[in-house]
Amino acid sequence: MKDNASAQQVGPTPDGTAPKRALPALNADTRAYWTGGERGELLIYRCRHCDYFVHPPVPYCPECESRDVGPYPVSGRGTVATFTVNHKQWLPTLPVPYVVALVSIAEQDDVRLAANIVNCEPEEVAIGMEVQVRFEQCEDLWIPLFEPARGA
Ligand SMILES: [Zn+2]
Repeated sequence: MKDNASAQQVGPTPDGTAPKRALPALNADTRAYWTGGERGELLIYRCRHCDYFVHPPVPYCPECESRDVGPYPVSGRGTVATFTVNHKQWLPTLPVPYVVALVSIAEQDDVRLAANIVNCEPEEVAIGMEVQVRFEQCEDLWIPLFEPARGA
């Protein structure tokens, strides 16, 4: 595979196989979100001054302008705020169709995580559906995905 300079890091892994997903480029603030799954934790930045959740993670709170923010483990529960069904095969290893959703976390409605909905058929996904996080390891990242909440 030809190397390219995109931030998507779609390239061969050391064993020569392509990664299943396009992986995000990490920085100091986004690392917690993409690696907390190693310990089973969905980590969302939260202001320690006013408890506001900040996502996408940035090193300050937009509510109170405090710089005392950092990753906080949330419940992993949420609801589908909106979604789309992707039918285009962007990666040969990622079967279509699949669902890309914005999931509102249970702790704060305006924190919306872009993630795939898995373990159900695309036609079963609906706005307002209760979901819970699960993680899929991809190289050294643990990608947060959501599946229908058990008992929902
Ligand atoms: Zn704050």
